[in-house]
Amino acid sequence: MNASLSLAVLSDTIVKGKPINWVGVRAAALAAERDWAQGAPMPEGSAPILTAPTGNLKMTKGDGLPVYSLSLAPADLSGYEVCPWRTVDCTRGCIGHRAGNARFPSTMRGRVNRTIELAENPYRFFRRVLRDLSNARKRGPFAYRDNAFSDIPWGSILPTLHTFADYHYNYTKSVQMAFASLRVRKEHAMCGVRGGSLMHHTLSFTGDNIRECMMYLRAGGNVAVIMNKRKADPVPDTVWGFPAVDGDANDRRYMDPAGSVAVLTPKAGLDRTRKWVVHPCETGSDSAEQRIESIH
Ligand code: SF4
Repeated sequence: MNASLSLAVLSDTIVKGKPINWVGVRAAALAAERDWAQGAPMPEGSAPILTAPTGNLKMTKGDGLPVYSLSLAPADLSGYEVCPWRTVDCTRGCIGHRAGNARFPSTMRGRVNRTIELAENPYRFFRRVLRDLSNARKRGPFAYRDNAFSDIPWGSILPTLHTFADYHYNYTKSVQMAFASLRVRKEHAMCGVRGGSLMHHTLSFTGDNIRECMMYLRAGGNVAVIMNKRKADPVPDTVWGFPAVDGDANDRRYMDPAGSVAVLTPKAGLDRTRKWVVHPCETGSDSAEQRIESIH
């Protein structure tokens, strides 16, 4: 495993990993989809690739559908970049290499191997994903989060990936991706089409994107913030003037009310003094205005 993730933090700059050849990946994904639809035999060594609901207690917490997820190695940990919009702060505090199951070397090896397979053997990667999604479907309704520790526009690579689950959701730092999914959900709602199976993006606050977060909230989107509080402390009723929900109670962000802020507690000894950590007193819209002014 390379060490560039921690090096990027030490130098306080982002050192991006090798770019993935997305054109080649897309072609391989389409070939995998064709062969999957025709029932072609699976390539050798095709163990399950998705994390089942029992394998991730955080995502399964609370009432609701079982959650399947795809866990890659975040940032450039595998050598390949899977978080194009990451910041120094989120890289430093990323739970994908610092918390939960990341403490198990075998878990991290699995995340790295899956990421390398996406970049270097995308045909097998997508055959495995399609097989696991279709098996999950046979077991009943489920929710799917395919960016557990990455920020990849999977729907643009292979739209079929988002036709199996009842709910699809991700956190993202891409305001474009967030607005695009919100627009599609609104268009479907106007036509009376059930929007559950459409991608739901929660935009993550980075410390620098307060304007984008406010625009997204006003448009009915959802935002996630890390708040400088203990887990047992209550979540304020509002953040920046918008209703707040307890993001630690469950991971099902697609159930959050439109235009609300999910409040998460810092994990893994995160530095609470950084600008992306929100304070419990930031309840009113004036605190958002102050953040906007401080950017100038
Ligand atoms: S974008 Fe998300 S997954 Fe990637 S490094 Fe930042 S916090 Fe981790």
